[in-house]
Amino acid sequence: PARTVLPQAEALIDLDAVAENVRALREYAGPAAVMAVVKADAYNHGAVPVARAALAAGARELGVTTLGEALELRAAGIEAPILSWLHTADSDFAPAVEAGIELGVSSPRHLAAVVEAARQVGVTATVTVKVDTGLNRNGVAVDEWDDMVRDLGRAQAEGVVRLRGAFSHLAHGDEPEHPGNAEQRDRLSEAVADLRRHHLAPEVVHLSNSAATVTRPDLRFDMVRPGIAMYGLTPIPELGDLGFRPVMTVRARVVLVKKVKAGDGVSYGHTWTAPADTTVALLPMGYADGIRRNLSGRIEVQLGGRRCPQIGRVCMDQVVVDLGPDGAGVSEGDEVLFFGDGRHGEPNAQDWADKLGTINYEIVTGIGGRTVRTYV
Ligand code: PLP
Repeated sequence: PARTVLPQAEALIDLDAVAENVRALREYAGPAAVMAVVKADAYNHGAVPVARAALAAGARELGVTTLGEALELRAAGIEAPILSWLHTADSDFAPAVEAGIELGVSSPRHLAAVVEAARQVGVTATVTVKVDTGLNRNGVAVDEWDDMVRDLGRAQAEGVVRLRGAFSHLAHGDEPEHPGNAEQRDRLSEAVADLRRHHLAPEVVHLSNSAATVTRPDLRFDMVRPGIAMYGLTPIPELGDLGFRPVMTVRARVVLVKKVKAGDGVSYGHTWTAPADTTVALLPMGYADGIRRNLSGRIEVQLGGRRCPQIGRVCMDQVVVDLGPDGAGVSEGDEVLFFGDGRHGEPNAQDWADKLGTINYEIVTGIGGRTVRTYV
């Protein structure tokens, strides 16, 4: 057979699942619109293909963190509204203003830099004011609010800026009953009312992430900004199945199958020794590819039609799994699934998150190294 250079490990990205999840989110959110959050390279699923799939499924806008991310989407020919919201005030906003990127502004300094860029390129900049309603992270601080409203008013009157939106981000979105959610909703409403009093009427107001989209209709305003649910992972694991399908499946192929004898140690430090004669398989992914070392001996993979435990330490490039004495019929080159949507019996990214005491976001964004993305 012809020999080719195949990827050692693959992250399969199911764009139909993205579309299904966007449609489910639209159902939850309606009549509010959906902004698909594709920051961090679409949570490591690939910003451009995910953005296209999300827009085709009815997402109206795209949300990213940085100017670079926003410009990458425009450069790929995506014409939908794109909002970016995390910038230093000394950023060069000119290319983004020219490209029609909507800029989240979080202080009068940010606005001044945007105004300067708009004058320079001779294009009206579209801005969305980010209001800090209680997360105390990004967003206009309370003591700068009045200055911000004044400066927005002047910039809009001059025609260099158009205020399109107002938004904020929740501190307790994944705790639906937390009283902070209603407080943040009310503070955002007050901020919008204040803007209106100053003849600055934002057309689009938004607050909800995935968790709030599925649990708190009262927080939806005109648009919601889901990320994690679009990737098919649950924003609130305690709620069980919310109707989203995991988009990323991580798979590799067996490098080597070998016998080990009772009492033999496997991998660095021999933290695992074979209780009886057995067969093991070597898999070409390690902590450099996103299998965190503190998962050592704690995960299972789907291989040979069954779950096989990973044994011993996770190494930089490889892990070993126990196939049992009969070898489970596994041969070198066979496909192994690390995690996915569970259709083939494999674990879910949530299983890894539970083991690590972290959130599923960190699992999918952590897959990398030599892992190649393939779109299906
Ligand atoms: N909006 C902002 C400002 C965010 O930072 C994020 C991500 O953390 C989201 C929306 C999407 O959140 P989630 O992935 O929880 O839906």
